[in-house]
Amino acid sequence: MKFAQADVIWPDIEEVARPFYEGMQQKKVMIQQCSACSTHLPPAQIVCDHCGCDELNWLEANGSGEIYSYVVYHRSFHPFFDDKLPYTVALVELDEGPRLQVLFYGDACVVGMKVQPIFTDVAGKHTLLAYQPAENA
Ligand SMILES: [Zn+2]
Repeated sequence: MKFAQADVIWPDIEEVARPFYEGMQQKKVMIQQCSACSTHLPPAQIVCDHCGCDELNWLEANGSGEIYSYVVYHRSFHPFFDDKLPYTVALVELDEGPRLQVLFYGDACVVGMKVQPIFTDVAGKHTLLAYQPAENA
């Protein structure tokens, strides 16, 4: 994996998103669910997009989904990515409904393609969530 390098850039983790990042460490895809209307939400929300309720719970998604959209980067927006071009960033729609913006590993990304998560350990302290074509696709 060309992104599994020690010099990976990593965001500052805000408290509201901590369960998502801790889930990645355990190779889990964590999403949120509204306690009032049961809508599944992408991380990390403070209120429900559907009803405005602020009582949200975390749960593990099954991880599977399909490509909703994607873009192939041929120019880097940060020097870290200079030697990784081209790379694909996909919007994956999980089976539960939320969409995640993630790196895509594979030869060809196609809208509607079934995908599965892949977790890559980075620098011995981070785990990066990306997606790849599903094995049974
Ligand atoms: Zn709701």
